[in-house]
Amino acid sequence: RKGTAIITGASSGLGLATAKALSETGKWHVIMGCRDFLKASRAAKAAGMEKGSYTIVHLDLASLDSVRQFVKNVRQMEMPVDVVVCNAAVYQPTAKEPSFTADGFEMSVGVNHLGHFLLAREFLSDLTSSDYPSKRLIIVGSITGNTNTLAGNVPPKANLGDLRGLAAGLNGVASSAMIDGGEFDGAKAYKDSKVCNMLTMQEFHRRYHDETGVTFASLYPGCIATTGLFREHIPLFRLLFPPFQKYVTKGYVSEEEAGKRLAQVVSDPSLTKSGVYWSWNNNSASFENQLSEEASDPEKAKKVWELSEKLVGLA
Ligand code: NDP
Repeated sequence: RKGTAIITGASSGLGLATAKALSETGKWHVIMGCRDFLKASRAAKAAGMEKGSYTIVHLDLASLDSVRQFVKNVRQMEMPVDVVVCNAAVYQPTAKEPSFTADGFEMSVGVNHLGHFLLAREFLSDLTSSDYPSKRLIIVGSITGNTNTLAGNVPPKANLGDLRGLAAGLNGVASSAMIDGGEFDGAKAYKDSKVCNMLTMQEFHRRYHDETGVTFASLYPGCIATTGLFREHIPLFRLLFPPFQKYVTKGYVSEEEAGKRLAQVVSDPSLTKSGVYWSWNNNSASFENQLSEEASDPEKAKKVWELSEKLVGLA
C-alpha cells in the first residue's frame, strides 16, 4: 500500500518541496498540515502535485486547540499514519517585541517547539499502531542551533540556560519570553526553538525507539536561502543572503534539492537508523552529523521534555 506522510507547514519552502517530491514517487499520500488552506491549495497546484496524492488539513501550530483538532481530523480520515514530519517554523529576526501564541507562549518557541511537541506526542500512538515497514517521526533541525558550527556561532547564539523562562511559562508577563530568562531576541528565540527540536528528537529516541520501533530523526537540509523563512528580515539581507550562501559559505541548497533530502529521511530504506541528525556533504551524500554539546545534552533534553509536557497539558 501507499505510505501516508504528514508534513506540517507544507504550503511553502522545504515542506512544499518535500510534499511534491514524495507525491511524485506515487508511493505516498501526503497530508499537508497548513494554517492557510487557500495558500496551501494554490501552492500544491502550482507545484504540479497530482490531485488525489495529497490532502490539506487545517493546522495552526500557534494554538494547542488547533493542534488537537488537527489530530482528530487526521484520525477521522481513517488513513494510517506512517510518517510525521514536523517542519513548519517561524523566524522573527527583526521583531523588537515578542508576540504570543493563543496559549500565551512566545511565538517562535510556541510554534516551532511546543506546538510540534504536542503534535508529535499525540501521533506517537498512531505511528506505533501503523503496520508500515518503516515508521518515522522527523523533526527538522538547523545548523543555527548548533554552536559547534560556524553558522551556529553567529551571535546571538542559541542558549537555553537553566530553562527558567520555559519553566515559568514563556509568557513575557510573569516570566521572560525567552527560554533562558533573558531579554527578548527574535533571532535567538528561533535558534533556541531549533535546539528544543533536536533535543526532543533524541529524547523521543531514548524513551520510545525500542518500545515502538519508530525511527526518530532530525536533519539540517542545508541553507535554503530563498524560502519564506527570511520574509521578516530586512530587504538588504534578503537580497544578499542567497548569493552569500551560494558563493561564500557554499552552504546554499535549492528548495528542490532540500526537499529531496527531507524526502530521503522520510522514505529512503538506508536512512532507518533512529536518533540521528542527518546532514549532507557537498556531493549531496547524507551522513550522520554531530550535534553541539547543548543540543545533545541528555539532562537538558529530559528537562525540556518534562517542562514542555506541563506547558502543553500532557502532564
Ligand atoms: P518557510 O517560511 O518557507 O516555511 C515555513 C512553513 O511553516 C510555511 O508553510 C508556514 O506557513 C508554516 N508555518 C509558520 N507558522 C505556522 C503556524 N503557526 N502553523 C502552521 N504552519 C505554520 O521556511 P522554510 O521552508 O525555510 O522552513 C522549513 C523548515 O526548515 C523550518 O523548520 C526551518 O527551521 C528549517 N530550516 C530552514 C533553513 C533555511 O535555510 N531556510 C535551514 C535549516 C532549517 P505559511 O505558508 O502559512 O506562512
